[in-house]
Amino acid sequence: MSRATTATIHLQALRHNLAQLRARAPSARVMAVVKADGYGHGLERVASALRDADGFGVASLADAQRLRAAGLSQPVLLLSGIDAPSDLAALRWLEVDAAIHHPSQLAMLEADAEQGGPPVRCWLKLDTGMHRLGFAPEQARALHARLRALPNVAPEVGLMTHFAASDVFDGEATAAQIRAFQSATEGLEGPRTLCNSAGVLGWPQAHADWIRPGGALYGISVVEGTTGRDFDLQPAMTLSSRLIAVNRVRAGERVGYSASWQCPEDMPVGVVALGYGDGYPRHAPSGTPILVDGVRVPLVGRVSMDLLTVDLRGAPDARVGDPVVAWGRGLPVEVIAAHAGTIGYELVCAITRRVQVVEA
Ligand SMILES: *Cc1c(COP(=O)(O)O)cnc(C)c1O
Repeated sequence: MSRATTATIHLQALRHNLAQLRARAPSARVMAVVKADGYGHGLERVASALRDADGFGVASLADAQRLRAAGLSQPVLLLSGIDAPSDLAALRWLEVDAAIHHPSQLAMLEADAEQGGPPVRCWLKLDTGMHRLGFAPEQARALHARLRALPNVAPEVGLMTHFAASDVFDGEATAAQIRAFQSATEGLEGPRTLCNSAGVLGWPQAHADWIRPGGALYGISVVEGTTGRDFDLQPAMTLSSRLIAVNRVRAGERVGYSASWQCPEDMPVGVVALGYGDGYPRHAPSGTPILVDGVRVPLVGRVSMDLLTVDLRGAPDARVGDPVVAWGRGLPVEVIAAHAGTIGYELVCAITRRVQVVEA
């Protein structure tokens, strides 16, 4: 029998989440962010389920190519733009829009201007406070005019920025970013986009022309202490496996590598066919919850490559073969992420190739 470790992708949840986000931002178009293989859910699978999205956001030209090969014809934005002059040919061929965030990219466009190629659609990216990618807001007007004057740039130049802390709904940092964007772009022509998922959920005044949700489409919240469900979102991935052993271990014995966990009494310990080789975080500590046949029990000891161990005192009827859920339906990935000191995004992105993926 093949290994039981399975990631079930809930296509209906993806569609539900898209509808929820549309309802929250009814006047905006939705650019579904599908980078990192659709946050680990499978790029083509996600994009096909979300074929009603108005556009897609990707982090690589290879992903843009995959979307086109899958027959998706919506606008696609390469979120960090071109890296080399040769990328321009691919952009044109694939009809992909480019974010322009750096002078080196402007220089590539300017060097290409007289080549007579079809115009490229550009989004001018402004750094309003995250200090990762983008031009200073005070340069917006001059750069916008410069881009629009280039014969190889489509006349409609979009304006974008990215939030650093939109998950803090009453935070001054995001309010300041919104003000900086508004004053830098006031009166300029072109569509605008500011919001990632948390921006959509918490900052309606910034929805603008396009929203760019990623995580929320997959049902994941990054707002501390919440799960997607608090925003009427549904998890799009359930990571599951089975119990492959149930052992009675004596009081005082230690379980797993480094003997990090000791049995306080004689007790049943379950072994699950799931480990960091599947993408379950090795640093998830003892006490991280896991569902065994629907019952929440704590992980105990070190997660190993293929296996992890659970305390079955709370599930005395558990048997070999019982279904186990690591995250997803019934156990939000945000809860596991909080135990493991990360966010749900990282966990779903980290599913490895040996995990069997099924659609439901
Ligand atoms: C990843 C990304 C998004 C989506 O962010 P989420 O928090 O997943 O919604 C939006 N915009 C840009 C520029 C991104 O890099």
